[in-house]
Amino acid sequence: MESTMMHGQLTLAPLLERAGRYRAGIEIVSRMGDGKLHRYTYADFYRRARALAEALTRAGLRRHDRVATLMWNHHVHLEAYFGIPLARGVLHTLNLRLFPSEIAWIARHAEDRFLIVDDVLLPLLDQFKNEASFERIFVVSTGEKPVPAGYEDYEQFLKTATGDFVPPQIEETEPLGMCYTSGTTGRPRGVVYSHRSTVVHAYNGVMPDHWAFTMLGAMCPVVPMFHANAWGLPYGAVMVGMKQVYPGPHPTAESLLDLFAAENVTVSGGVPTVWLEVLRLLEQNPGRWRLAPGLRLMIGGSAAPEPLIRAFDRHGITVVHAYGLTETSPMTHLCGLKPYMKDLGEDQRYAYRAKQGLATPLVEQRVMAEGKEVPADGKTMGELQLRGPIITGSYYKLPSDPDKFTSDGWFCTGDIVSVDAEGYIKITDRTKDLIKSGGEWISSVDLENAIMGHPAVAEAAVIAMPHPKWDERPLAVVVLKPGAKATKEELRSFLEGKFAKWWLPDDYVFAESIPRTSTGKFLKSKLREMYAQPAAGAKAAG
Ligand code: ADP
Repeated sequence: MESTMMHGQLTLAPLLERAGRYRAGIEIVSRMGDGKLHRYTYADFYRRARALAEALTRAGLRRHDRVATLMWNHHVHLEAYFGIPLARGVLHTLNLRLFPSEIAWIARHAEDRFLIVDDVLLPLLDQFKNEASFERIFVVSTGEKPVPAGYEDYEQFLKTATGDFVPPQIEETEPLGMCYTSGTTGRPRGVVYSHRSTVVHAYNGVMPDHWAFTMLGAMCPVVPMFHANAWGLPYGAVMVGMKQVYPGPHPTAESLLDLFAAENVTVSGGVPTVWLEVLRLLEQNPGRWRLAPGLRLMIGGSAAPEPLIRAFDRHGITVVHAYGLTETSPMTHLCGLKPYMKDLGEDQRYAYRAKQGLATPLVEQRVMAEGKEVPADGKTMGELQLRGPIITGSYYKLPSDPDKFTSDGWFCTGDIVSVDAEGYIKITDRTKDLIKSGGEWISSVDLENAIMGHPAVAEAAVIAMPHPKWDERPLAVVVLKPGAKATKEELRSFLEGKFAKWWLPDDYVFAESIPRTSTGKFLKSKLREMYAQPAAGAKAAG
């Protein structure tokens, strides 16, 4: 017997069609380069995304050709998110925070043919243009100024479309976009998403236990659109046809709060660094911003510290801890409490909420150490491995990579986690950042979160320091809040009792700032270079 259902393809085209036709009056707002708000509706977005698809096709874009973007978060980037795949091209988002030579390497590796770039990023482009080989470059004016002479204007390019474009038939397994890992742990590697993986990921995302998207709300992606499809948030927003709000070039915590208040943003997402600053401003200026009741923030990319989750709750803002990788579309885990957990004590509830949470539907997980699954006891650590339709099965031009894919078909995340009996995972480290002391693992992430709970501490990163007796011992690099004071002894006694004695850092160094990766994560390799020298006469841990 066969099913009687149609073989409809899971592609972006019907999502765009539905949003364009039946959400035509709903707004998409972008804060542009001059701080002014650009407003238009889904009807405009639909027309322009189709015009981009047609213009690209007329310009000779062939099936699966790459079109790169070098843009901030705004409506034109959204047009590219849909217009390029609709033309059967592949959207390749370039990370504007990388070194110019790295961007050039990535653009060459991906064989990008065309580029759409913000005018404010032309000085960056000038630094690597000659090392890449874009056939045509379309420039977006993000402010009042016209596109500089010598460049093609994106708006003129859109005008080459006639409007009678018939989108090609696309199979759901065809590529839609690509993104390179940011290279925190090695050379950037290309991940190629399909229409199907993107649609499935968006369905997963919009559910009420996850992003809780609704057409009654307004979504603002703070996570850059050049990073892992802005966590898929724009695709989810078009799927439900909700209002979208984009923060534009160089967003600051203040400009975000202004925008959230003015446009009634109900749901957003970004890395913890951004939200730490947002929280600081909220606390310094009580009552200045009237934010939408029930505002929901997806925080991920690195661990959302428990004190941050508690503090936002006091402002009526709900943090949803989220986890994923470029390789996994990206979100595979989100943290929500099960109904019977509401009766737990406050500390237990927050301890759960600071975990990375539960796997989303169709994502299978296992936690492995020494070739076996570890017990689900919330303590034993192992590597998180994933499989499913939103997980990459290989890297672009790198068909086999035994370090990242097991012979039985699982993707190795490189994250060390524990899993509890309820199925919640908790990241204790990245494989490369683990601290192994006397043969036992110490979680740098747990120590960092605890230190960041000290009232004088703005940020803390814990790294492994080579040690003659114990192999490695933890060293804490601490940034104090402006004007705040704390001594090493105070920090040590603050941690005492929270961890086994042998987990406590051997030393604390105070720094002005912690170096970060292009996506805002602590750059621990750099910290190790800076600080992790074996200390003369290092104390044995006890
Ligand atoms: P890169 O691998 O180059 O840093 P990604 O954005 O793909 O770029 O990073 C994915 C990694 O980020 C994960 O493997 C994990 O180490 C970390 N990460 C993502 N979300 C979280 C989270 N909620 N808590 C802790 N770490 C996280």
